[in-house]
Amino acid sequence: MAHRKPHLPEKACAACGRRFAWRKKWARDWGTVRYCSEACRDGRYGAARPAAGKAAKNA
Ligand SMILES: [Zn+2]
Repeated sequence: MAHRKPHLPEKACAACGRRFAWRKKWARDWGTVRYCSEACRDGRYGAARPAAGKAAKNA
């Protein structure tokens, strides 16, 4: 029989709006996860994308 991928839950990131799927690291608190990454959670989403506006740091 063919092995089917399990369907993972998804939600939209509250910071960048991108959809992201369940990850094992969120197994304990998927219900409260709102962001796709630590950068989004920390509000650093703009810093990772120069076009987003804020240019606080220049690495
Ligand atoms: Zn995000």
